Amino acid sequence: MKDAHIEHILALKANNIPVVKFIAACCGATIETRANTDKTKNWDEFCQCPNCNHYVIKVTFSQQDGAYYEPIQPRFVESVKRGYDNRYRNR
Ligand SMILES: [Zn+2]
Repeated sequence: MKDAHIEHILALKANNIPVVKFIAACCGATIETRANTDKTKNWDEFCQCPNCNHYVIKVTFSQQDGAYYEPIQPRFVESVKRGYDNRYRNR
């Protein structure tokens, strides 16, 4: 996952898409991500840390104001995966 993330960030930079850095709450690594250039709305997503693979809720703050990882408890991750599998398995 780390190499794929590095390739993703390099592709953003090669296309002059703004990137922000933040410290991952799960492992303390410095992570780069696409900057949110929206003036008012934050971006929220469920994802994995590219450094330690811990599942997190990532909030990328509007106005290119960095990002934040909220680490997710493993039992909650299992619940989300079960719900996802039930909904999308037969599509
Ligand atoms: Zn991490």
